[in-house]
Amino acid sequence: MAPSGKRIVVIGAGVGGAGVAALLQARGHSVTLLERNLYVGGKCTSLEKNGYVCDYAFHLYSMGEAGPLGEINRRVRGELRWLRARPMGKMFFQDRGWMTLPATLGTALPYLGLAYAKGVLRPSVIKMLRSSVRNFGVMGLLDTVAKIARADAGFLHTIDRMSMRDFLLQFTDDKTMHRIMGIFSFLLVVIPYSEASAGEMLWCLVNMFSKSSLGYPQGGAREIAGSYARAFLRDGGSLRQGCAVKRILVRDGKARGVETEEGEQIPADVVISNAGIKSTLELAGEDQFPAEYASYVKNLKYSRSANIIKYGLDCTLPEVPRYFFQYMPAQSARQLDDFLEKGTDPDEQSFVIIKPTDFDPYLAPLGKQIVIAGKVGPSEVTPENIRFCEEVLDIAEKSVFNVFPRIKDHIEWKQRATIQTTSALTGRSTGECIGLAQCVGQTGGDKPRAATPVKDLWLVGSDAGARGVGTEMAAGSALYVSHQI
Ligand SMILES: Cc1cc2nc3c(=O)[nH]c(=O)nc-3n(C[C@H](O)[C@H](O)[C@H](O)COP(=O)(O)OP(=O)(O)OC[C@H]3O[C@@H](n4cnc5c(N)ncnc54)[C@H](O)[C@@H]3O)c2cc1C
Repeated sequence: MAPSGKRIVVIGAGVGGAGVAALLQARGHSVTLLERNLYVGGKCTSLEKNGYVCDYAFHLYSMGEAGPLGEINRRVRGELRWLRARPMGKMFFQDRGWMTLPATLGTALPYLGLAYAKGVLRPSVIKMLRSSVRNFGVMGLLDTVAKIARADAGFLHTIDRMSMRDFLLQFTDDKTMHRIMGIFSFLLVVIPYSEASAGEMLWCLVNMFSKSSLGYPQGGAREIAGSYARAFLRDGGSLRQGCAVKRILVRDGKARGVETEEGEQIPADVVISNAGIKSTLELAGEDQFPAEYASYVKNLKYSRSANIIKYGLDCTLPEVPRYFFQYMPAQSARQLDDFLEKGTDPDEQSFVIIKPTDFDPYLAPLGKQIVIAGKVGPSEVTPENIRFCEEVLDIAEKSVFNVFPRIKDHIEWKQRATIQTTSALTGRSTGECIGLAQCVGQTGGDKPRAATPVKDLWLVGSDAGARGVGTEMAAGSALYVSHQI
């Protein structure tokens, strides 16, 4: 036993692992953090290329400083600095035109009003009211709206098992509203809105707008886990990079430590795994868990993947909207989902662009810019899916060049990240974007617990224990687990 607390081993230094390690070390425990890569951050990291600091993936942080990522940083006295998007960015509907996306509740009304006046967003308010009152009654409707607006935990729990699509249909069948919710579902939880849990989606949406803090860390995505890891080391923690765990040691139903790929055994009072729930089952050995739990874990579904193309541009192109851009061809919400299910591609692709250098210009050499375009895809790493993701990116790239032709002429370098590279980065056999899918049956009370049936073996990260958008769910899980130990 360490003099001031427990001996704890954390497997993996993603946002969840680095976060929980820093929180527990700051509380006086003796923590060893083992990461198989030579850098921290997991999927939320940045790599250097030709003088640019470019994120491995593309990230926006829906609650920024005001969310759990900022909370961990404050608690461990980290150095993370946040930069905010004002407004969040723009959407372009091929058939309806431009719409500005508000980043705060205060600016939502003017921007939505403008979209209504221009006809970009014009649901039939009377029809919507009629259908809402029919389904909820007048008092019920007022009560429901109030509960949504304050993200009432009890209420969200009751709609966790309803899909976002079914929930929205109680208010409206307006096609544009469904398209927008379909897009937000891919942006926030990276699954179709017909699968996404309404409770989870509304939690993410309401917190994003009410916290009014959507942002990005100074220095790039790597600064999040980087800041936690520096605080961890300052407080005396032990970080070993390039150190993969081969086995979680379990005896008499209790976690006793880990064995590394090199064969070294590290004893511990508590083991916390950021390797993902399915990999953790394998690392500890399926036979250490009740058969029911093992089969439950094996049947859990992952989110879809996000496949991206990063461009280092030799100049800044003002026509590409600041911070965030979503292009939407004339497709319905159903068509958005269909392309994933049927494995077929429409000629014209929706795509997202994020521009980290609009937040932090120092991520690129002076006067240059990073533009990252992305598109959702399947997450299983099979030869067909790898081919499919590459084709999706080929078509998305064609769309990017159609909408912003000058990008093509100013590419200094470009690089893709797909399911294959994501799976290699996390050490999982799949290339999903988030972690476990936040679909009906896997959120709220149905979300896997952070505590496992093996005593003193915990899960941390986006697979267990919290709600939210990707990294913020991982950070929420770290805060939760650090409280429980
Ligand atoms: C393209 C893309 C876009 C995204 N966009 C956003 C976004 O805009 N906003 C957002 O909030 N989220 C976004 N996400 C999701 C977000 O990155 C993840 O949900 C989050 O980073 C997951 O964190 P985590 O701590 O659960 O684990 P991970 O990032 O999966 O980290 C796990 C760590 O454990 C290590 N590990 C695994 N096995 C072992 C082992 N045996 N031994 C030692 N170490 C091990 C891995 O190497 C890794 O470093 C995006 C993801 C992708 C891929």
